[in-house]
Amino acid sequence: MYDLTNPRVVRELLEKYSLAPKKGYGQNFLINRDVPYRIAASAAIGSDAEYSEAPRADGVTALEIGPGVGSMTVCLSELFERVVAVEIDRGLIPLLEDVLAGFENVSVVNADFLKIDLSELLKDTEGPVRVCANLPYYVTTPVIMKILEEAPEGRKIESLTVMIQREVADRLCATESDSEYGAVTASVALHGKAERLFTVAPGNFYPAPKVTSAVVQIKLHENGVLDVYPDASKDKAEREEFVARVKRVIELAFLQRRKTLVNALSGAFAKEKVLSALDDVGLRPDVRGEKISPYNFCRLTDILYK
Ligand code: SAM
Repeated sequence: MYDLTNPRVVRELLEKYSLAPKKGYGQNFLINRDVPYRIAASAAIGSDAEYSEAPRADGVTALEIGPGVGSMTVCLSELFERVVAVEIDRGLIPLLEDVLAGFENVSVVNADFLKIDLSELLKDTEGPVRVCANLPYYVTTPVIMKILEEAPEGRKIESLTVMIQREVADRLCATESDSEYGAVTASVALHGKAERLFTVAPGNFYPAPKVTSAVVQIKLHENGVLDVYPDASKDKAEREEFVARVKRVIELAFLQRRKTLVNALSGAFAKEKVLSALDDVGLRPDVRGEKISPYNFCRLTDILYK
């Protein structure tokens, strides 16, 4: 078995397969063995696993995006029933087959996660899914939004435990009273609750990135947007359309942060209509998007589209 977080072993493995870390794919490999275990264990127990050995999450499938040289994949294999890992870099596939030989519950798929059909990807697995990844920074938000929006019919995605850039983590976990609150915060909050678990310094990676990272766990709402806004339609298709509308309103509201909501929405809705909706919700006529909670974005959207 390889010591996949030993920098010398990682370098030798990459050399053996004539590879070098690819900047374009955001390849910064973890070289402190505690970190991938702590991320995988946090996914398994559903909170920061710093002080505890995680019990096996029986019956649960782990979905990993970007296994790299497999350092987190082997931890996931130990803690989950099944592991499906999607790696974009074709060059890493023979290396992964080598290091993961004997890990019978792991399957590696060579694909761009952003282009993959999630039902197809998960069709040979069963039970709930938890996503776990050290995400390449250049695709953090699209990857997270894809998982939140494209959960396959009949499959429950329970959580995402992901390492991302610290600044993005701060944005995801902000509330409307924080300066980091933005479109991505409000959009993610429609699907789940984000919590920052711990930070990881650049020295834990090979090569070291320029930024500090943080691990965030997003636990998906049991009843989707109904947990944020109970007045949303009970009909699934109508509810999906509603969520898409709320996101559009959120996007417009944050397109130019310094604009009032009335001005930000002026291309899409009559000023009088927005003012009346704000009045109904009990918000000031000059409120900006950055002060509007996810719940109030839902209420406003509901009124604006009536
Ligand atoms: N999990 C490994 C670790 O923690 O050491 C590697 C993490 S590295 C930050 C990101 C990984 O994601 C790389 O292996 C990279 O090739 C892969 N990757 C980048 N873009 C991807 C995409 N669109 N779909 C799937 N994998 C991707």
